[in-house]
Order: sequence, then structure tokens, then C-alpha cells
Amino acid sequence: MDQAQIDALRARPIAPQKHLIGGDWVDASDGATMDITSPIDGRVLTTMARGTAADMDAAISTARTAFEDRRWSGQAPSARKKILHKWADLIEANALDLAVQGVRDNGTEIGMAFKAEPGSAAATIRYYAEALDKVYGEIAPTQSDILGLIHKEPVGVVGAIIPWNFPMMIGAWKLGPALAMGNSVVLKPAETASLSLLRMAELAFEAGLPPGVLNVVTGEGAVVGEAMGLSMDVDVLVFTGSGATGRRLLEYAARSNLKRVYLELGGKSPNVVFADAPDLDEAAKVAAAGIFRNAGQVCVAGSRLLVEEEIHDDFVAAIVRAAQAMRVGDPLLTDTHIGAVNSEAQLSQNLQFVKTAKAEGGEIVTGGNRVLAETGGTYMAPTVITGVTADATLSQKEVFGPILGVTPFTDEAEATRLANGTVYGLAGAVWTGSLSRAHRMVQEVRTGVMHVNTYGGADGTVPLGGVGQSGNGSDKSLHAIEKYINLKTAWIKL
Ligand code: NAD
Repeated sequence: MDQAQIDALRARPIAPQKHLIGGDWVDASDGATMDITSPIDGRVLTTMARGTAADMDAAISTARTAFEDRRWSGQAPSARKKILHKWADLIEANALDLAVQGVRDNGTEIGMAFKAEPGSAAATIRYYAEALDKVYGEIAPTQSDILGLIHKEPVGVVGAIIPWNFPMMIGAWKLGPALAMGNSVVLKPAETASLSLLRMAELAFEAGLPPGVLNVVTGEGAVVGEAMGLSMDVDVLVFTGSGATGRRLLEYAARSNLKRVYLELGGKSPNVVFADAPDLDEAAKVAAAGIFRNAGQVCVAGSRLLVEEEIHDDFVAAIVRAAQAMRVGDPLLTDTHIGAVNSEAQLSQNLQFVKTAKAEGGEIVTGGNRVLAETGGTYMAPTVITGVTADATLSQKEVFGPILGVTPFTDEAEATRLANGTVYGLAGAVWTGSLSRAHRMVQEVRTGVMHVNTYGGADGTVPLGGVGQSGNGSDKSLHAIEKYINLKTAWIKL
């Protein structure tokens, strides 16, 4: 990546943002707007539409019309595939611009954002473009005078609500399979990360997606998100975000049309390091990256370090070295390792977790504080806290910030017990030289993804989904497609 190019892109003014409904840019029905503030320096970048419930209803009804007249699902699979590939081409052609806009909005360091946002989004759209004409119906093995067909049909209108940490990547995880299967979509991005998603959606229309098939409504979760949740006309609701919002969405579904709700929620993922790990220095570096990149604002972040007692002190020293070697700062500088925390609210929540950990007996061995306050941005030093007990707040509650809690264990049984000792089950890792132990831990730790001798980086060929209070259903891979289709039986008497 070229720093001069990034600097030129960051200097560009950003026009006021509107909803994208029916292929047109539209204001909120009451004209209201909200500021988009950059976590890099606390300055207002522009404004966006502060949506109303009426705006959300209009977008849903537009999506319904687009679905009913089959302007998208009625096209040949080869035509739909071509449009989705073109969309991925355009995302790639605009990758740096998209990444910089996204970083100005949400603060992720550009190195990570470039790869994880436009890079991953384009790859996801391509994956489902390729998949869409390989999803076959079935013929049931039933009696000889009957033909039992199982059709796989689009569900209709999909509502998608996404968080602020990786809007394009997570947006594409929903949009790719939903659109590939012929559905219409209304998407609501997060208040603090809508810019890049809006531009990415605009590119879909440049690629030839018919108007109304994808609609984006911005604004507050409690207003437009709630309206989507309570809609009688959304068939499937897919969500990534916090458990608290996930619970609300289930209630909304129960209070409205019993829409199917899929939740990708938070985690408190254990990173378990045994003394027999092949390369402890490498493990320390990867573990540090696994919690501190994007300022810890990664759902699968390895936020609980469980380390075998005999290597505890050495391993903590190695992690602290790795943490201190990571440069925190302006996320648009290519040599920054850790960018900004997404918002003042998130930063003060992080600092409150540090306070609580201290009060509960934890020792802060590095970090624990806000840094670079003079920039006006929201930055936090990578933080390592030792002496964190299994029932401490830091072991039990998701922080979603650059804070690692360390807990020692004495044997495999204790490690497994600790690993499973939360309500979550999103991700985890085991570092060991023993193949048998690695397989045992993969079997016994209750998570959606378990890494062995690495952390993070699982690509689009494998599913990501939580168990327990980390959610249900999966994003990514062919398995994600199941969320966006209905099975319909045709029972034909011959
Ligand atoms: P959040 O739940 O506060 O917000 C997520 C989205 O929900 C936003 O668009 C928000 O506007 C909307 N929302 C808020 N209140 C709503 C309501 N009452 N009705 C409808 N929508 C509403 O979460 P966040 O702070 O943006 O994201 C962080 C959370 O997301 C963390 O818990 C993190 O672990 C989780 N996450 C999970 C995954 C995964 O794949 N499992 C990936 C990334 C993030």
C-alpha cells in the first residue's frame, strides 16, 4: 500500500450520506441527520440520514416488490453470477478507496482493513457467485408411484443488521449468500460504521444489480433496527452484534411474524497454551495479534489466555514484549499495528473493565490506559492483566477491546474446564506439540471454531458460527446458504 495514495484519499471531503432505497439516494422521511465522527481525531467527517421507522418500512416494501416481480430471482443463474462477479471486480478496483473511507469511519488499522474489508468482501461475493448455480434440489427416495421433489427456494426479504468492526466483511457474509440465492435484502449498518458499506452497496448497482434488490437504511439501532425486527414483512433476519441486541431481535420476532432469526454474537474465546507447544515465541506473537489487532474489536479475539503454570511467567513476559512492540496510532499510517478504538463510549467501557479487573485482584502488567489523547482520537494501549480468576468479570464478560486476561492452569482437564467456563462458545485455540491433545481439545472445547497452533485467519471455505450465547447458524462457506433458502416439497402422484 502506498502511503501517499492513502493520504490523498483521506484528505477527500465526504458528501452527506443518505439511505439507498430502490436504487436511489433518499433522505430520512423527517429530514433528520446524524454526525459521522472519526475515531482517528474526533472530528466530524460528514452526516448521514438518521432513519425513521417509516424509512425502514419503505425499504422493506421496496425489497418486497423487487422480490415479488422476480427482477432478480427470475434472472438466469448465469446472469446473476455475472453481476455478482462484476460487483466483486468493482470492489477490488475501488479497494483502497473503500478501505480508507472505512478506516476514517471506524478506526481499524489500514493494513488489516485493506485485507479484511474490501479484500475479504470481494472474495466472499465471488465465492457465492460461483456457488449459486451449484445448489441443487433433491429427489426424495420415496415410493415408486410418487415423485417427491425438494425445491430450494429463496426466502423472500432478508433483513440484515451488522456491527461496526468489519462492516464490509460482515456485510458481504450476509449479502453474498442472500443475493446469490435470489433474495432481496434490506441492510442496516452500525451507527459508527456506515460509510464504506454504503459505497459498497452503490457499487452493486453499478455492477447491474436491479434497483430495490439491495437497500441500505442508516440510523439508530433502537429505531430503524427495531423497525426491521418488528416488521411483518421480513422473512429472515440475520444479525451480527452483541448478545443484548440479539435477545431483542428474538423478542421482536416473537412479537411480530415469527421471522427466522440468525445471530452471530460475542465471545470470550480461550487461547490455551501448553508448555509443549512447538514454538512459544511464535505462540506469544500470534496470541498478541489475536487479541490486540483492530484494538481487540474482533468477535473471535482470543481474550482469555490460559497458560500452563510452568511456563506462565516466561510466556507472559513474551506476550508483554509482543504487546509493547505493537505501535498504537493513526490507523491510516501503514506502519501502525493497532488503530483507534471505535468510539469514546467503547473506550470508556474498556477502561471501566480495567478498573474492575484491578478491583477483583488482577495485576496490570502492561497498558491499561488511554493513549494519544492529544490527537482527539480514541486510542488505548494493548493491555495484559494477570491473576485473573475463572469467575472474574474479565473472564466472564466480553470486553471487545485490547485487553487480555491471563489465567494459569495445571493440567489438561483444568484447561478444558476453564476454556468451557463461560456462557460463550465462538472461538478458541490450543497450542501443543501433542497431536492427541490437540484433537481432544478440539473435541472438548465448546466453540464454533478451534484453532490449533495458530489463531485467527480462517477463510471463507469454513463456517463461522457460535454455540451457547455466541449465537446460532453460520456465516461463510456453503453452510451459510441454508439460512437464505426455504425447502419446499412437491409430492407428485404419478
Ligand atoms: P450492537 O449489538 O450494539 O450493534 C450491532 C447492530 O445492531 C448495529 O447495527 C446496531 O445499530 C444494531 N442495533 C442496536 N440496537 C438495536 C435494536 N434495539 N434493534 C435492532 N438493531 C439494533 O453490537 P456492536 O457493538 O455494534 O458490535 C459488537 C458486538 O458484535 C460484539 O459483541 C461482537 O463480539 C459482536 N460480533 C460478532 C461477530 C460474529 O461473527 N459472531 C462478528 C463481529 C462482531
